[in-house]
Amino acid sequence: MSAHPDDMEFEAGGTIAKFTKRGYKVHLLVLTNGKYMDMSGKEHSRVDLQTEGRRAAEILGTEEPIFFDNPVTNLRVTGEIVTQVDNIVDEIKPDIFISHHPFDSHQDHKAAAEIMFAVCRQGRVKNVLSGSTLPYRPNIFAYRPQFFVDISETIDTKIESIRAYKSQYEKFGGEKLIERMIDMAKTQGWAMGYEYAESFEVIRMDESILGD
Ligand SMILES: [Zn+2]
Repeated sequence: MSAHPDDMEFEAGGTIAKFTKRGYKVHLLVLTNGKYMDMSGKEHSRVDLQTEGRRAAEILGTEEPIFFDNPVTNLRVTGEIVTQVDNIVDEIKPDIFISHHPFDSHQDHKAAAEIMFAVCRQGRVKNVLSGSTLPYRPNIFAYRPQFFVDISETIDTKIESIRAYKSQYEKFGGEKLIERMIDMAKTQGWAMGYEYAESFEVIRMDESILGD
């Protein structure tokens, strides 16, 4: 579950692709409609971002993504949104819930993390993980990576899913962005002796993560 359409591709794209490759169903929920104006004054439409998001989801092999209609930069933690996500969780009954880090510097990401905590209360979801806030955000130092996934077999799929967001790819510097994402996966892999990895901070985990 992410605040914006491209977030989970950046934070967990390799892990998602690995899960779907193993036959697990992955559902993507985006809490805002994606529409925003960037710092250069360029408008990014909801249609563009959601179309790119659907393409990225196809590449990662997930179910059809769900987009809520909340405005970007103003995502609020309310009883209403928690209930909306509760209903989806009741239907899907996920084994693992991934969203943002509570100390991420983006206010929408922080709100998404709080919504995840509310929804996963009382053991409703057993495994709860926060993805890595991107290193250009000042609060990266509050993020403590604890759970590492070897994404050497899916790094290419992750990169392809990021490229699917053509508008964001261009905004973030094109190939420079891709280089950064590969570097980040290499650095995280270094910690574990993997070629490429993604890391997560564990909010809660039970033994089901070990499999049968
Ligand atoms: Zn975001």
